[in-house]
Amino acid sequence: MKNGKNYKFWFATGSQDLYGEDCLREVEQHARKIVEGLNNSGRLPFEVVWKPTLIDNVTIRKTFNEANADEECAGVITWMHTFSPAKSWILGLQEFRKPLLHLHTQFNEEIPYDTIDMDFMNTNQSAHGDREFGHIVSRMGIERKVIVGHWNDKEVQERIAGWMRTAIGVMESSHIRVVRVGDNMRNVAVTEGDKVEAHIKFGWEIDAYNVTDIAEYVDAVPKADVDALVDKYYDQYEIITEGRDEKEFREHVAVQAAIELGFEQFLTEKNYHAIVTNFEMLAGLKQLPGLAIQRLMEKGYGFGAEGDWKTAAMVRLMKIMAEGTKDAKGTSFMEDYTYNLVKGKEGILQAHMLEVCPSIAKEKPAIKVCPLSMGKREDPARLVFTSKPGKAVATSLVDMGNRFRLIVNEVNCLPQEKAMPKLPVASAFWRPEPNLATGAEAWILCGGAHHTAFSYDLTVEQMTDWAAMMGIESVVIDKNTTIRDIKNELRWNEIYYR
Ligand code: MN
Repeated sequence: MKNGKNYKFWFATGSQDLYGEDCLREVEQHARKIVEGLNNSGRLPFEVVWKPTLIDNVTIRKTFNEANADEECAGVITWMHTFSPAKSWILGLQEFRKPLLHLHTQFNEEIPYDTIDMDFMNTNQSAHGDREFGHIVSRMGIERKVIVGHWNDKEVQERIAGWMRTAIGVMESSHIRVVRVGDNMRNVAVTEGDKVEAHIKFGWEIDAYNVTDIAEYVDAVPKADVDALVDKYYDQYEIITEGRDEKEFREHVAVQAAIELGFEQFLTEKNYHAIVTNFEMLAGLKQLPGLAIQRLMEKGYGFGAEGDWKTAAMVRLMKIMAEGTKDAKGTSFMEDYTYNLVKGKEGILQAHMLEVCPSIAKEKPAIKVCPLSMGKREDPARLVFTSKPGKAVATSLVDMGNRFRLIVNEVNCLPQEKAMPKLPVASAFWRPEPNLATGAEAWILCGGAHHTAFSYDLTVEQMTDWAAMMGIESVVIDKNTTIRDIKNELRWNEIYYR
């Protein structure tokens, strides 16, 4: 999966001409060294591009508009080396439409006690100039990220890296196109939502097709291609027939191979990045897409079951944000299924009818063919596995009627206590922060869905920053959550987002 662009971030240093040419030369040298240091750190997922020092409203406005127009520019990082009168920034900021990071840093790490004089003070006064800049951005009500600390510090660089991924999420959100193959599951509330509002807020295009339209693509896949893909499956995965006839088993697997190839052809041709299905609406398909959807998710497509386009788009978005993460552990569609309420072992068993992304698998996935016990189709082939242990985020985007709310829960995925030999689906087991009882109570009070977009590779900070950039409400459930506080937060948000 590629997001298609070689994104870069511009580094814009603020100053003014009050301190003379020598000072401006030093400002430029320092900014260039910082950009070089950031790029050489090996910690940033995208390149930082140095831009000439900004000292007046003409160049500032011009630079921000060039950033708007440059398709590869995913955002601007600003830093005021000296004092830079902030009225000069108003026009440029007003016209700027991309993510903004205010890096509140300075060139030197330590005060040079032995040599410091007034020339040094005038040249190196970010503590002063960045406050002036921060004031105007706050006064103008512009959403931005502020990161404080020395530019060569590991934590500062890691936070910049995290923000860059959020910025890519903001930039790429407007390119997400979701195809709905069938509508929302009958009578289900939480997977519904206002698609026009989602287009306005997030830029998502959400289109419906008849299942028969995509089924034609599945039927058109040449048999040789299906056979070749089935061979690939048999190489790549364990095969657990559980006593089924070998030939019959393989035929069931072949149905999913044809669905994978046909769906991918449809998605590529029509330029969609996420898909929803509904087990109630499968006209023309022999099986509910299972293994096929799991593999498409692994390739970077978003997915939501039962017509859940919000989660499908979120899975796609989070896969783009996490793309290229070193030692990535995976991102998937997920569903809360059943609890373990034993004291000290509390947690939620996560799974779905079939569709969990193998990017989160702990071990080599296995193919099984089992009855679905819902719908009226053939037994679908699916990948079965358990998931990696570790910290992750579970997110749910819900439509509250007058606004979208993003709920973000920190969760801890735990090793499966015992094997579940009769469970025919992929699963994870997690304990939500701050604990199961408070976490689940808070989730329910927030109106969170049973479907989530889940990732080991993103953080609460990144997801809430993305929500802020999109101008929507976000609520966090983490180790600091108390029921009293979250009830108040929800009440206050009710007023703020009215
Ligand atoms: Mn479901």
